[in-house]
Amino acid sequence: MTQGRPLLNRRLAGFGTTIFAAMSALAVRTGAINLGQGFPDTDGPEEVREAAVRALRAGHGNQYPPGPGVPELRAAIAEHQQRFYDLAFDPGTEVLVTAGATEAIAASMLALLEPGDEVIALEPYYDSYAACIAMAGATRVPVTLHPEPSTGTYRLDLAELRAAVTPRTRLLLLNTPHNPTGTVLTREELTAIAELACERDLLVVTDEVYEHLVFEGEHLPIAAFPGMRERTVTIGSAGKTFSFTGWKVGWVTANGPLVSAVRTAKQYLTYVSAGPFQYAVAEALRLPDSYFDGFRADLQRKRDLLADGLRAAGFEVYRPQGTYFITTDITPFGEKDAYAFCRALPERCGVVAIPNSVFYDDPDISRSQVRFTFCKKDDVLHEATGRLSRLTS
Ligand SMILES: *Cc1c(COP(=O)(O)O)cnc(C)c1O
Repeated sequence: MTQGRPLLNRRLAGFGTTIFAAMSALAVRTGAINLGQGFPDTDGPEEVREAAVRALRAGHGNQYPPGPGVPELRAAIAEHQQRFYDLAFDPGTEVLVTAGATEAIAASMLALLEPGDEVIALEPYYDSYAACIAMAGATRVPVTLHPEPSTGTYRLDLAELRAAVTPRTRLLLLNTPHNPTGTVLTREELTAIAELACERDLLVVTDEVYEHLVFEGEHLPIAAFPGMRERTVTIGSAGKTFSFTGWKVGWVTANGPLVSAVRTAKQYLTYVSAGPFQYAVAEALRLPDSYFDGFRADLQRKRDLLADGLRAAGFEVYRPQGTYFITTDITPFGEKDAYAFCRALPERCGVVAIPNSVFYDDPDISRSQVRFTFCKKDDVLHEATGRLSRLTS
């Protein structure tokens, strides 16, 4: 306190250390297997790593790169959107490179929102959404995805989404494939969301960092739906797609005026970042289909391995259609408090997981759910599920 007032401002009060940092620290301290934070324990393709080394040695990007990103990467991002989704973006005016998807989200919120605006976000939501909406002085309005016992998945109730829109709603913040539930929004759902956005004249910011990790269904960017090209900010990232989460290379694709608005905020956050890595990611985005197919198949196999292991250990398991997370329920163990369960889990059996309640405004909605990641080596997943099977013995 100084002058009798807390140091942390009111907008950020309540946003302590992120649960991921806290749980990863707990994993290090106890030597537990960390299935909490979603980062791969194997680096991405060797040729992409070598491309970064080459760029660094050649002096490409060692000094401030251009504000919107190096031209090679912007061209590769535009090509990627064309190749996978038949979406055309002008690399000169409609592509912006950011310090990971995290900065793209922050810059979008800071650029596009006025204090008092409402932002509808799918709940459970990625933790930075709430903080970024708060930093922009706006209000988040959660629309909760519901577990659906018949399919073992989480689904959006379109009527609830529709009912959440008010005259103050400025934008919809989407995330598909969705972390932490693994939900992939369907063509029907996206059509309805797009119609709603057009009808109510809303902006859409869509976090698609798991676009290449869809196991069932297909990834459909909402920017491709009628009327959406001019009102959608699409966010991607190299971190998840190429297993280089430490490089922090992300991007925005949108029409010129939206990119220009987001860039205005972005230039005063980091200005630029990751110079040599930008050249390497440009090469990564041009990898043949076999890379993207192999990556997805590998993670799908890991999903099945962890899902089977968790089920055998006694968890109720929801089936993710995408991402690299699995949501489980601990009620079969006679437990109700996932937060306490996760706090005790490292000591109890040497595994770290995340209580889903941290992804909700009202933690009571998800008292008994726990999230595990499967972007780890097979033997790590085997060892973890082996340890977890001790819960019932
Ligand atoms: C990991 C993740 C991000 C952050 O991406 P970076 O490129 O590492 O900043 C954003 N959104 C979701 C849903 C994520 O899971």
